[in-house]
Amino acid sequence: MIFSKKKVITAYTVEQCMKCGMLTKRGFVKGDVLFADISDCGACKGRVRIAKIFGETLT
Ligand SMILES: [Zn+2]
Repeated sequence: MIFSKKKVITAYTVEQCMKCGMLTKRGFVKGDVLFADISDCGACKGRVRIAKIFGETLT
C-alpha cells in the first residue's frame, strides 16, 4: 500500500432546532446545504436547520 501525504478530511453537519436550540452533529451527507430546513425536531417538533458544515482533518 502506498501512503499518501494527502490529508483525509471528514465532513460533519451540525443541525440545530430553531425552536429549542438542540444541536445534533452527524456525518455530512451529499446534498446537505447550509441553512436548509431538513427535518422536525424530535423533542419539540420545531424546525431543524443545518447550522454548520465543517471538516475535520484526520492525521
Ligand atoms: Zn426542538
